[in-house]
Amino acid sequence: MPRYEYRCRQCGTDFELRRPMASSGDPASCPEGHGDTVKLLSTVSVGGAAASGAAPSGGEASGGGCCGGGCCG
Ligand SMILES: [Zn+2]
Repeated sequence: MPRYEYRCRQCGTDFELRRPMASSGDPASCPEGHGDTVKLLSTVSVGGAAASGAAPSGGEASGGGCCGGGCCG
């Protein structure tokens, strides 16, 4: 089960939760019981090596990356 990292905005505590991917967006309570938390962009280690510097080299300058097939242009 993937781990997700959260931060409590009330006390500033960082904490991790193991939960299904489908529940990754669910609210998480910090260990202190606060509910005002945000999910951090964590490096989830779910069967994938770290791909660093994977910038596609193309001719056009794409700033959004909403889609790679040019469907939004
Ligand atoms: Zn807290």
